[in-house]
Amino acid sequence: MNHHQPQPKIGVYVCHCGTNIAGTVDVAKVAETMAQEPNVVVSREYKFMCSEPGQNIIIQDIKEHHLDRVVVASCSPLMHEPTFQKACEKAGLNPYLFQMVNIREQCSWVHQDRDKATAKAIALIRAAVGRVVYQEPMEKVKVTINPQTLIVGGGIAGIQAALEIADSGHKVYLVEKESTIGGKMAKFDKTFPTLDCAACILTPKMVSVAQHENIELLTYSEVESVTGSIGNFTVKIRKKARYVKDNCTSCGECSQVCPVQAPNPFDENMSLRSAIYKTFPQAIPNTYVIDKEDRPPCRETCPIGQEAAGYIALAAQGRFQEAARLIREQNPLPLICGRVCYHPCESECNRALVDEPVAIKNLKRFIIDWELAHGGPYLPKPPTEKKGKVAIIGSGPAGLACAHDLALKGYQPTIFEKLPVAGGMLAVGIPEYRLPKKLLQQEIDGIKKLGVTIQTNMALGRDFNLSDLFKQGFQAVFIATGAHKSLKMNIPGEEDFKGVYHGVDFLRHVNLHQPQPIGEKVAVVGGGNTAIDAARTALRLGAKEVTILYRRTRKEMPAEEAEIEAAEAEGVKIEYLIAPVEVLGEKGQVTALKCTRMELGEPDASGRRRPVPVPGSEHLKSFDTVIIAVSQSPEIDFNQGSQTLKLTKWNTITVNPETLETGIPGVFAGGDVVTGPDTVITAMSDGKRAAEAIDKYLQGEPLENFKTHRSRQLAPRTPDDRPHRFAPRFKDTPRQPRLRIKELDPLERRTNFQEVELGFSEEEAIQEARRCLHCGLCVECHACEKVCEAQAIDHSMQDEIIEIKVGQILIATGYQTMDPKDLIPYGYGRFPEVYTSLEFERLVNSAGPTGGRILMKNGREPRSIAIIHCVGSRDINHHPSCS
Ligand SMILES: Cc1cc2nc3c(=O)[nH]c(=O)nc-3n(C[C@H](O)[C@H](O)[C@H](O)COP(=O)(O)OP(=O)(O)OC[C@H]3O[C@@H](n4cnc5c(N)ncnc54)[C@H](O)[C@@H]3O)c2cc1C
Ligand code: SF4
Ligand code: SF4
Repeated sequence: MNHHQPQPKIGVYVCHCGTNIAGTVDVAKVAETMAQEPNVVVSREYKFMCSEPGQNIIIQDIKEHHLDRVVVASCSPLMHEPTFQKACEKAGLNPYLFQMVNIREQCSWVHQDRDKATAKAIALIRAAVGRVVYQEPMEKVKVTINPQTLIVGGGIAGIQAALEIADSGHKVYLVEKESTIGGKMAKFDKTFPTLDCAACILTPKMVSVAQHENIELLTYSEVESVTGSIGNFTVKIRKKARYVKDNCTSCGECSQVCPVQAPNPFDENMSLRSAIYKTFPQAIPNTYVIDKEDRPPCRETCPIGQEAAGYIALAAQGRFQEAARLIREQNPLPLICGRVCYHPCESECNRALVDEPVAIKNLKRFIIDWELAHGGPYLPKPPTEKKGKVAIIGSGPAGLACAHDLALKGYQPTIFEKLPVAGGMLAVGIPEYRLPKKLLQQEIDGIKKLGVTIQTNMALGRDFNLSDLFKQGFQAVFIATGAHKSLKMNIPGEEDFKGVYHGVDFLRHVNLHQPQPIGEKVAVVGGGNTAIDAARTALRLGAKEVTILYRRTRKEMPAEEAEIEAAEAEGVKIEYLIAPVEVLGEKGQVTALKCTRMELGEPDASGRRRPVPVPGSEHLKSFDTVIIAVSQSPEIDFNQGSQTLKLTKWNTITVNPETLETGIPGVFAGGDVVTGPDTVITAMSDGKRAAEAIDKYLQGEPLENFKTHRSRQLAPRTPDDRPHRFAPRFKDTPRQPRLRIKELDPLERRTNFQEVELGFSEEEAIQEARRCLHCGLCVECHACEKVCEAQAIDHSMQDEIIEIKVGQILIATGYQTMDPKDLIPYGYGRFPEVYTSLEFERLVNSAGPTGGRILMKNGREPRSIAIIHCVGSRDINHHPSCS
């Protein structure tokens, strides 16, 4: 209270209520005690404070003592608060400067000990005296009441209430969280007491709701918040995305083609339904809805957002053509990805929580190989109207993906490639035995058919520069020149002898069929994929013994585990914790490496423990060929002239990570030249994003709200971390290990460049695809979209928040069924033929999972049925409020 305001003057009145209070509470003592309280001016007791003489005492005191606060300690406020407030008002005191204390129900009626009851009364009144000081006068105001009503819950109660209120001429919003109204009654077969058919009573009412002009139906919606007060509420409602628009004709074609089958909650999970469904035939609104929990982790982690779960679901049903088409809609190089992608999708696959990840990469490979063998690739048609010319520098996965997407957007892309072949590292880095070049050529030919021109032997900086391109009419440029410069170790002798190669140069020469003389004893220095590829390539070129020297341990090796195993199977040896310090030779030819032993020290910037030389451990190892494969960086000798690109200290090009714009207007960059050595799929992701950015740029649109995917970091993975519905059937999934792909025999394959991996058979592909858990339910295979004649399906739909104003809210959210598993003696969940009443309703319902026949899980009719009533409600362990 403000110190400058006058002190309040409080009157306290203690009622005897005959002997009701005074019989147990020492009212005289209470009144005397309260008289001593701060700010209390008068404190009295009286037989019946509510009587007229009682009220007059208060009125008189207010006037005489100028009381500005009153506390009455008597019976319940429900009974007499208004009585005393009126008395205050009569005396000219605002009725809200009054406090009432219930010392009858709280003290005298519930206690026998006079002293304790009295002490409690004093404590309660003292608290009221303390509170009343803070009260402020309030005035009565008249407000208009909004006549609109919100009903939450579209079961039979909500439906009936909505119809009656709407019939009285007032607007009703009926909010239902499910996709249809009807609630539990829609699941019943019969309703008591007349044993009428539930549907016959319910469905006409549902139709009336849909048709009533005063009812606005909001299904698949939930109340988010309510503000305001009685008569005037503002309610926020989340309309969840149905992914099916109102023009759905309910033909059901979509659910016929949906490859996902999940337990059907409407049938109490005793049947399956597809991810696109209508809850029951008479559902209101009578449209389909897609059950989409979240995007599956395989898709979210893929840098191009490939709908892996979608093509896997189609493959599981043998629908390989559709699967291939789905893959190609998103992925310009699926033949490549099916063979060499490092599959971040598999690292996050939820199936690993059951046993092992789904073999997503190998399934993609099978589907696309199948497509090739059955009529060739599906090629989308670019628009006939052309938008403009775009130059792309570099024909690796970034350049090819960009050209592919630009062509489909109506542009005329030209790729300029420095080397005599197109494909970037796919052509000159990755060896033939992992990626047959004729398959790469097939993909490139497909991209050319979209209208993409590729000019080989044309290098930026050597044959033309950026301003030449703009002069020639190119409106934008995408630089995707990769990282082709082998890094040197900078040790003595590295440049001095024949027989010393550097990783990517060595592989490029081999891939371009340029001679690379190889000795008998080969050392490969490094621990990444380039080192492994160099070692396996050296074997195939005739080396007798190939040893990889790596300065850390196997745990820190950046190469793919599968690649390391394949190399070892072929006979490549790996020595850990060793590093060359000098290359030695005789007569111009390498003969040995001087090496030092290493040990692991503190972690470095990469988080891996830093290797440190062991003093005095230097020793010689003889080799006649040494391949140094310790990494590579971009060759940016083209970055000269009036306008230069900004570079990082690793010689990568600096771009805006969102838009891939460089500092030069109209010039974009992506792939390894920006990220440093990375992967095919991240380069493709950049290529696709660059195509979208260039399109926006050339159309004069702001470079924001990109549609191209960026992979999402997912929460750490344990069975409990991810919600169960995200991997819906994970707990019940029988273990089934992932199928291994067949390979050529290691001893046979090490002598040639034939493709090592052989792929799945049709049966194997189906078997492996069936391991997918359909995380998130709808797997976005888009099969439904393709058959929907009304074009009602929209996977991009978002939840919508709407705001409504209502005067009253009616809650009709029904009941939750009890989980009978806790009632252990009844055996529910342990014995297959114990049902809940709701499950039994579905079994006897002609629209239920058994068409109305009571059948056991083995399909046979039971000989006898026992029905146990009131199992839960009569058990105080579960329902304490039950009689
Ligand atoms: C040996 C090796 C094995 C690999 N294996 C895998 C694998 O199994 N899986 C995986 O995901 N990733 C792998 N990678 C990485 C992957 O190949 C690259 O990350 C990817 O190719 C990068 O794509 P990009 O388009 O950015 O560049 P690149 O593929 O390097 O293509 C760039 C192109 O630009 C051309 N170019 C350069 N300068 C100019 C210029 N001035 N003018 C015109 N053209 C120019 C180059 O000749 C090249 O063709 C491997 C890399 C290497 C080196
Ligand atoms: S996109 Fe595929 S999985 Fe999703 S609802 Fe349509 S058909 Fe079913
Ligand atoms: S189980 Fe299937 S849907 Fe789930 S992450 Fe793995 S592949 Fe994707």
